[in-house]
Amino acid sequence: MNTAVARLPREVGGDGRFVVDPAPPGYLRLHETGELRERAEAARNLLTPCRVCPRTCRDVDRLADEVGACRIGRYAHVASAFAHLGEEEVLRGWRGSGTVFFSGCNLRCVFCQNADISQRAAGPALTPDELATVMLTLQAEGCHNINLVTPEHVVPQILEALPIAAEAGLTLPLVYNTSAYDALDSLALLDGVVDVYMPDVKLFDPRLTHRYLGLRDYGEVARQAVAAMHAQVGELVVDRHGIAHRGLLVRHLVLPGLGAESEAILRWLATVSPDTYVNVMDQYRPDWKVLSTDRYLELRERVTRAEVDAVLAAGRDAGLWRFDRRRRMTW
Ligand code: SF4
Repeated sequence: MNTAVARLPREVGGDGRFVVDPAPPGYLRLHETGELRERAEAARNLLTPCRVCPRTCRDVDRLADEVGACRIGRYAHVASAFAHLGEEEVLRGWRGSGTVFFSGCNLRCVFCQNADISQRAAGPALTPDELATVMLTLQAEGCHNINLVTPEHVVPQILEALPIAAEAGLTLPLVYNTSAYDALDSLALLDGVVDVYMPDVKLFDPRLTHRYLGLRDYGEVARQAVAAMHAQVGELVVDRHGIAHRGLLVRHLVLPGLGAESEAILRWLATVSPDTYVNVMDQYRPDWKVLSTDRYLELRERVTRAEVDAVLAAGRDAGLWRFDRRRRMTW
């Protein structure tokens, strides 16, 4: 099933863009052959017992609407969906990225800025028809892509909706906007379906991931997931307007006092490919348990410019060069 991508020709004057003439999204080809519906059926089987994500909640039958650690049962809950103008320029373009914010999450990041939707089933439960309608509405509004936010636990539900949306005329690229805590089986079912993978790689050290994310194996899982994503879609390429067409876009949020961990993550990304497109994010602010308890006082600090610059320098030293050029925070 692997559709490994050959290195694409490098273009343009050193601004980090690889430009291609866009082909139709892969899910349309899979829809034409009927394979998209077969993927949906295979993904549905992962719901009982649930092994959609690496937590493998073996006593949870989500087809019977039972909920596991992600707190979501049979149907995906959508907290909001809109044309997002705050995403990376390669996603938002000038008409916005069509973000679909799924509620529930398989992580417990103590600094989560969306705990009001990530730690409960916020928003309505949507049938596949209704989720397809959400995607089609975003397309009708002119969005450049469908940006599936926190999708790791609702891969079957997304795959169930896609054939319906494709049949009704969806043609936008799909962006899989994930925490990177993804099951390889779920990712295999998305091979040829997802156009742009956007994993947010958080931390690697098991002591840190246990303390701050609630999972000791996050780093190992994330490394495997990112490698699988890269094998599927290759480097990020854009169309002639600079809008992401296909490939891997990695996000990483620098946390206060954890610059060494960020540097280790960037060094590892350079081993995946020095051409990896990376958004080193500097906008950390304390939230959720960091504020509501006294257990994480070290994360109540702000990230300094010096910390971020050191992380970027380490990434460049490792060979990375395609850094997202978003406006930086003003200190
Ligand atoms: S998707 Fe939810 S129920 Fe399924 S294994 Fe992951 S956390 Fe558990």
